[in-house]
Parts: sequence; structure tokens; C-alpha cells
Amino acid sequence: MRREGHLIIISGPSGVGKGTVCTALKAMRPELKVSISATTRKKRPTEVDGENYFFYDENGFYELIQQGELIEYAKVHGNYYGTPKAYVMDQLDAGEDVILEIDVQGAMQVKQNMPGGIYIFLLPPHKNDLEARIRNRGTEDEANIELRLHNAQEEISMLHDYDYAVINEDVDECATLVSHIIDAENQRIDARLMRKYWEEFHD
Ligand code: 5GP
Repeated sequence: MRREGHLIIISGPSGVGKGTVCTALKAMRPELKVSISATTRKKRPTEVDGENYFFYDENGFYELIQQGELIEYAKVHGNYYGTPKAYVMDQLDAGEDVILEIDVQGAMQVKQNMPGGIYIFLLPPHKNDLEARIRNRGTEDEANIELRLHNAQEEISMLHDYDYAVINEDVDECATLVSHIIDAENQRIDARLMRKYWEEFHD
């Protein structure tokens, strides 16, 4: 029996390691599809357009909004970010599981339309870890570091709107826990699945 894929939403404050956890998760479950977001943020030297993000100027991004091509979008740390609709919908329809690594504002927009998604929030072991990780990454200027740390408080206050919280103390351990969550969700009692068994057992 074919089912629609799971939509897995991963959020967490800047510096918590969402990207690294998603990379480790993808290595564990290569069948997972990772949505590539659109953004107006400037490309970092190590990033590749179409691999890490689709990079747009503000006009290009507004056009995506106006054409209805985004599932959600939000202004995060001073730049726009959004999830292209076509890829996500096509993959879900094909029965594939799709990961969105998006901020809390975007996640709440998605939740309104897709309450059946799996909403996972990543937390740092300690609050101070975020600053150290953002600084070690060396990708942000001082003003943006301050902004990201300030926004972290607000993001963590949205934790109760998620289904699961996972502490990222160790990347592989954290990715393993997220993988277990997906396994558990695959065993959820689903109306269509139950109908199939009910019909078989009452033949
Ligand atoms: P960064 O600039 O560090 O790559 O990402 C900054 C923040 O934007 C992160 O919290 C990340 O999860 C979020 N983000 C990335 N893509 C999207 C998206 O498509 N939509 C929303 N709402 N947030 C996103």
C-alpha cells in the first residue's frame, strides 16, 4: 500500500547544528529528500546556488511569493527565506519523506496547512553553546551574531508548538534520535492502514 510521505520539519536556534544534524540524518537515511529553500541572504563562500539554497535578490523573492510558489516564507535574522512548493508536494505525493529545515515562523505557517507533519525542535545542551558555535563557524559579522543570539530566546519559547525536542549534544546521537522519531511515526496507526487490515481480517 502506498502512503503519502512524511513531512519532517526541523527547527532550532541559530548555532544549534541543524545543518550538520540533517547531513548526518541524510547519511543514515539516504532515501530522505531535503527541501532546498529560497533566500535573499548573501551566499557564503562555501555555499553553492541550488545546493545549499536558491539565492535571489528581493525582487526575485517577491515574485516567488506573488506566483504562489512558496509553501511558507519568513524574514529571519534580517533576510527572507522560503520553501518552494512544487518540489515538496511532488515528493510527498510520490510517497517520499521530505525534510524542511526552517525557522519557527515558517514552521508555524506550515503547521496550519499540514498539521500531520512531524515537528522537531533541536536544542543546544547549554545556552552558551550557541554563541560559541556561531562564532566558530565564522560566517556571520558581529551585528548578525548578536541578532541571531537575541532571536534564539524567542525561537526557544516556541518549543511547545513542536511534537518533539531533541538535544544536540553529539551530532550522530542527535541524528539517530531523529531517525528513531521517523521510525516511530511510521508505526503510527493510520486510518487507511487500519482499514486495509480490518478488511483482510474480516474476509
Ligand atoms: P542560515 O542563514 O544560517 O542558513 O539560516 C538562518 C535561519 O533560516 C535558520 O533558522 C534556518 O532554519 C532558517 N531557514 C532556512 N530556510 C528556510 C525556509 O525556507 N523558511 C524559513 N521560514 N526559514 C528558513
